[in-house]
Amino acid sequence: MAKLYFRYAAMNAGKSTALLQAAYNYEERGMQVALFTAAHDSRSGRGQIGSRLGLTRPAATFGPETRFERAALPAGLACLLIDEAQFLTPDQVLQLHRLAHVGDLPVLCYGLRGDFRGEPFPGSARLLTLADELEEMKTICACGRKASMNMRIDAEGRRVLEGEQVLIGGNERYRAVCPSCYYAEQGVDPARAPGLFG
Ligand SMILES: [Zn+2]
Repeated sequence: MAKLYFRYAAMNAGKSTALLQAAYNYEERGMQVALFTAAHDSRSGRGQIGSRLGLTRPAATFGPETRFERAALPAGLACLLIDEAQFLTPDQVLQLHRLAHVGDLPVLCYGLRGDFRGEPFPGSARLLTLADELEEMKTICACGRKASMNMRIDAEGRRVLEGEQVLIGGNERYRAVCPSCYYAEQGVDPARAPGLFG
């Protein structure tokens, strides 16, 4: 029977690269895949999955209204791959779990576990609950420890501690950090401590 997979990480761990590699592996064996990414993610243009290594591929987009059902997907599909899976609604995660177990379609979700405040994304919380296989993709903090948290940095390079979970069209950036640096740097202005923040 097929499974629902959640491969999660902090920012910049290579999630999109891993997704594109998984798609390639299926297609190399003559199998058909479908790719989805969040509709509001415009980093690589609308309806594209882009990896930081330079690979990009067109992808269908999902919004909160998208329903993941067998009838809405191409026949003969071997796998569903979803990038930015933290933006799925909890109900969509349930639909994907059902697709795997009732529709016998493997579903691979790639996304963030938590936001810059250390809060779970609702979709990620549901994925962590329902996924049959969980895999943490590792990335490294500037200090060398494993990065598991995300810091939000504003356009002026200052750390942001509060705000909306999702900003549409903002100029904020994120940095993956280890928990020690996450707490050590709380309240520190990165613009005044450039050595600490690379
Ligand atoms: Zn660190």
